[in-house]
Amino acid sequence: MSTSRRRRLQRRTLPLCLAATLVGGGVVVLLPGAASAGGDGRGHPRSVIFVNGDGMAAAHREAARLDQEGFDGQLAMDSLPIAGLQTTDARDPEDTITDSAASASAWATGVKTYNGAISVDVDGAPLPTIGQEAQQAGLATGIVTTAQVTDASPAAFFSNSVDRSAQDDIARQYLQVSQPQVILGGGEDWWLPAGDEGTYAPRAGDTEDPEVSRSTQGDLVAQAEGLGYEYVSTAAEFAAADSDQLLGLFANEEMFQQRPEGQGDEFAPVVPLADMTTKALDVLSEDEDGFFLLVEEEAVDEMSHANNGTRMLQAMRSLDAAVEVAEAYVAEHPDTLLIVTGDHECGGLTIEDVDPEDESGPGGTLPQETAATGGTESGEDGPFLVAGSEDYDFALDWTTTGHTGAPTVVTAAGPGSEQLTGYYPNTHLHEVLREVLLG
Ligand SMILES: [Zn+2]
Repeated sequence: MSTSRRRRLQRRTLPLCLAATLVGGGVVVLLPGAASAGGDGRGHPRSVIFVNGDGMAAAHREAARLDQEGFDGQLAMDSLPIAGLQTTDARDPEDTITDSAASASAWATGVKTYNGAISVDVDGAPLPTIGQEAQQAGLATGIVTTAQVTDASPAAFFSNSVDRSAQDDIARQYLQVSQPQVILGGGEDWWLPAGDEGTYAPRAGDTEDPEVSRSTQGDLVAQAEGLGYEYVSTAAEFAAADSDQLLGLFANEEMFQQRPEGQGDEFAPVVPLADMTTKALDVLSEDEDGFFLLVEEEAVDEMSHANNGTRMLQAMRSLDAAVEVAEAYVAEHPDTLLIVTGDHECGGLTIEDVDPEDESGPGGTLPQETAATGGTESGEDGPFLVAGSEDYDFALDWTTTGHTGAPTVVTAAGPGSEQLTGYYPNTHLHEVLREVLLG
C-alpha cells in the first residue's frame, strides 16, 4: 500500500455526514443508514461515470452503428436503457452555437455561459464545479481523455478560468485546488516549461503547430510528483502503474492528429481510451465514498472539424470500447450512474446514400460527377460499408467545419438515469449529477 493510499484511507475513516456537520458547525443529527455520500438512504455511496463524445450527436452515433454493428446491431452506448435529447446553446454575445467550454461549464455548474468560459459566469465570476464539490465531499474524482487533460471539457469540471486557453493555469488548479486522483490523457506541453521537451519531442518541421512545451507555471509534473502523484508517459509505464494517485500524459497535445484525410491525420493513441478507463476505475473504485469520473473521446469532435469521416469513425470505435468498459463496471456496481452523451454537434454531419448525382460542396474523399462542380469534387466521405453486409454502403456528408446547434443524444443507466428521459437543456444534466453525487 502506498503512503498516499494509507493517508487517504485514514482521512476517510470519519463518516462523511459527520465531517460535513463539523465543518458547518451545526447540530449533529445521525440517522440510521443516512451516512452516505450518495444520500440514497441505504448507506451506499453512489458514483458517476460521465462519458463525453466531444462533438457527437445522433448522426455520429448512427454512422458508427452502421460501421461497427450493421443494420441489426447496437453500439454499447445505444444499449443503455434510458435515452433523451439535450439542447446545447451558449450564452455568448457573439455566438448562438456553443463551444466545448460553455457546454461543459453548463454540465459542471448548471449555469449557461459564453464560449471559452471555464466554469465562470457571463461576467467572468467563478462558479462551483461538480468535480470540485465531489472532491470536497470526500468522493474520488478522475479525468480520462484523448484531448489535453486541461482541454475545455475536463477543465470545466475541475477548474475556473475566464479563458479556456490558459491550460497551464488549469493544470496548476488541478494540483493545487481540485486534485483529481486520476488524470490521464494528452497535453504534456502545458505541464512542462519551455525548453523541457518531456517524453514527446516537438513535431519536427511543423511551423503551424510545433507542439512545444510552454508552461508558465514551472514544472508542473515535478509539482505533481511532489504531491504524491505517480507520473507515467509511455504505454509501458502506464501498464505498470499501481498508485492510487496517477498522472499520465501521453502526447504533446491531443493523443491524435486532427487533419483532413491524407494530410498527416493520425488516430493511434499511445494508450487506448478503454485502457485508461479501466485503470481509472481500478483506482477510483477503491474509494468507499464513491467517485466521479469524466471519460472523453475528443477525436469525434476534432475529426469532424477536419471533415474526416474515416478518422471520426475510428474515434467512435475508441469511444464505444470505453463505454463497454464502463458498462461492465456498472453491471457489477449498480450504484453507479453511467451517462454517455456529446457536448454539442460538430460538422453538421448527415448520413446519405452514395449518389453521384447528389449536390455537395468541395472537399471530401468520395469522387462525384456533379453539375455544381463540373468535376470530381465532393463534400462527402465514403463509401463506407455497412458492417455484416456485402454491398450496402453509405456516405457521410458534412455541412460545416464548425459546431452546430443540433441537439445531442443522452443515453444512461443507473441511479438518477430515469430523470434523463425527455428533451431538456444541457444544464439539466448538472441537476442530475448533483443529486446523485451530493444529494
Ligand atoms: Zn469542436
